Amino acid sequence: MTTARLHNFNAGPAVLPVPVLEEARDNMLSLGKSGIGIMEHTHRGKDFEALIQTAEKDCRELLAIPDQYQVLFLQGGATLQFSMVPMNLLGSGQVADYIVTGGWSEKAVKEAKKVGEVHIAGSSKESNFDRIPKMDQIKYSANPAYVHFTSNNTLYGTEWSTEPTGADGLLVCDASSDIMGRALPVKKYGLIYAGAQKNLGPSGVVLVIMREDWLARSKDTLPTYCNYAIHAKEKSLYNTPNTWGIYIMYLVFRWMKQQGGMAVIEKHNRDKAGLIYNAIDSSKGFYRGHAQPDSRSLMNITFRLPSEELENKFAEEAKKAGMVGLKGHRSVGGMRASTYNALPRQACDVLAAFMKDFASRNG
Ligand SMILES: *Cc1c(COP(=O)(O)O)cnc(C)c1O
Repeated sequence: MTTARLHNFNAGPAVLPVPVLEEARDNMLSLGKSGIGIMEHTHRGKDFEALIQTAEKDCRELLAIPDQYQVLFLQGGATLQFSMVPMNLLGSGQVADYIVTGGWSEKAVKEAKKVGEVHIAGSSKESNFDRIPKMDQIKYSANPAYVHFTSNNTLYGTEWSTEPTGADGLLVCDASSDIMGRALPVKKYGLIYAGAQKNLGPSGVVLVIMREDWLARSKDTLPTYCNYAIHAKEKSLYNTPNTWGIYIMYLVFRWMKQQGGMAVIEKHNRDKAGLIYNAIDSSKGFYRGHAQPDSRSLMNITFRLPSEELENKFAEEAKKAGMVGLKGHRSVGGMRASTYNALPRQACDVLAAFMKDFASRNG
């Protein structure tokens, strides 16, 4: 028996596609006809090998990843990437540029500073990260080892609409909360990383897409797990990977292909987010979006109500109406609706209608 599922607006771990969960359930005790459950298979066996290879192939197809890029499935979440990126890419005497657009960017900076010299090329901290800086406010250092940015700011609900300019080929991106929410010009990047638990699968596995010429920068003296060149050489199987997490990503990638790929998914996401932004914009000031309109995220929609009391009431009543995960992060307050790929449009219809009704009753 299955319990009814709620409309899940959680920011991460987040909603997954129902067909993916159903298939995973069915393979829990036996992967296909193998007689061994997916989590019980060796990562060195044919069954798992076929699966990780297909996951990589589908990932390449979805994002049109050029051949000279590696696709890795690592552990430690995006957080370990905050350290691995500078450990591998920031040599002594070099400077790494960071554009700071939220709490996750700040954490990335904190780890990079432990490794080497960091230049803050731009920041929107002054306005509590309510926007993506304009390009004329960004000043790169003379010869950066790389330029790091956070494509979508999960806590604040802002998103880069396109990549920062003037740093093609040098870009390193934390794309944890919008990876595969839209197409990406991968060629502009040296490295993209994304914890899986927003758009791609369960927590505990992180996708890394890295241009091969940068592998030469990984020094032998690095802790083995932290060395990209070793993971690339061993095809993500240097040690036991998160086999379950990779399996779910394999299913999610297949599901995304069935949806029609990035163009269809992006349009779907725009429509979904549009429903909620429209409810904000048409509320005559009852709801106030945190993000400046030109910096709005398609994945995390942040807004305040006239008082904290109303915000609590909103969350309570929404819960009674079958919607959960709407409370905002403490750094912004208010509400946050996360509308990742797997969130059905119907959930956004329900939330938008609820917002209109709540405003009319409490405005
Ligand atoms: C969730 C998130 C992280 C943290 O991921 P972990 O897997 O917990 O390390 C980092 N960056 C962004 C943009 C995120 O949304």
